[in-house]
Amino acid sequence: MINQERLKNFLIELIKIDSLSRQELNVALRLKRELEDLGAAVSIDDAGDKVGGNVGNVIAKFSGNAPKSQPLLLSAHMDTVVPGEGIVPILDGDILRTNGKTVLGGDDKSGVAIICEVLRVMKENNLPCCPIDVVFTICEEAGLIGAKCLDVNQLGARTGLVLDSDSVGFLFTKAPAANRMEFRVHGLEAHAGVCPEKGINAIKVAAEGIAQMQLGRIDHETTANIGLVNGGMAVNIVPNQVILKGEARSHSSEKLAAQTEHMQRCLEQAAARHTLEFDGKHHKARVEAKIERDYERMDVPDSAPIVQLVHAAARNLNLDVKTRATGGGCDANVLNQKGLVVANLGTGMRDIHTVNEWLDLKDLYLSARMVLEIVKLNSAKSSVVSEK
Ligand SMILES: [Zn+2]
Repeated sequence: MINQERLKNFLIELIKIDSLSRQELNVALRLKRELEDLGAAVSIDDAGDKVGGNVGNVIAKFSGNAPKSQPLLLSAHMDTVVPGEGIVPILDGDILRTNGKTVLGGDDKSGVAIICEVLRVMKENNLPCCPIDVVFTICEEAGLIGAKCLDVNQLGARTGLVLDSDSVGFLFTKAPAANRMEFRVHGLEAHAGVCPEKGINAIKVAAEGIAQMQLGRIDHETTANIGLVNGGMAVNIVPNQVILKGEARSHSSEKLAAQTEHMQRCLEQAAARHTLEFDGKHHKARVEAKIERDYERMDVPDSAPIVQLVHAAARNLNLDVKTRATGGGCDANVLNQKGLVVANLGTGMRDIHTVNEWLDLKDLYLSARMVLEIVKLNSAKSSVVSEK
């Protein structure tokens, strides 16, 4: 029942509308029109003001016509990463790709297009339909901040799906929590040629600290990274400051705390080794740490009704869908943290966040069939409840 041609054309239309994070206005207005045409009450929240963007999250409420059915949430994000302006989608058989200069934006416009197509099919066939809340978020790529600003109390649905991952055969139900860190390493400035003994080199302190750190894949559920280093003023000045930015992620809260502490401690121990006495004064290197929880982990059990619903839909289509853990975060992390039960279903997007991003339309159509079957099943029974 999925109209493949229509789905493909709508995806391409969306891809051609620029929508970098904080600049989603044009795509949001296009989607508002689409959702109103499908019969929803559509609003745009104030998330755009809160994050300094030009539009907020698009929220559409479909009241449904299947009396006893439970409401379902369907969500995807409207923004894309850089380079993502002036995207030229190229169709090569069933493969949609770019001209190599930008990302494709299939992340996450494939999810957006699938949701609209499924609602279109429900409407044009006048199928019994559960109440559906559609949320198209802004700024997912900027740190899930559109979802963080979303007031979930205005939604009727307590469970549902985010469509924002690659392979169609997987349902992501577990994702790590993440800490974001900024370490400011302070040394002591001095002339590098005249009196270097009166300086403490902050770059050296930072380097010693980083050299002691365990980074990369720490274990099967924990990762860590220092991703930015910024410091120093000139080659003839002993540098007095370095700023390091990094992150740690883990599916275990304890391991996340331990890894974060470890990284801070390595720098503090390095700083403690660098002290100076001169002119009757004591000088020492020191570290200022700013650590923020970026997002909480997602952990939807296999027994959750939404997971069971996806499995049942897959069975009806003779597909095999496996639940899986991911190392990345997405809007579903935030929605689960806000008390909803939301898993992340694949749409067929590939090699995302690169100019080589591509998408096999066959996967897109298959994912749309899955979502349609999920909505139909949920509309036919009253078994999906809000509890985990
Ligand atoms: Zn995405």
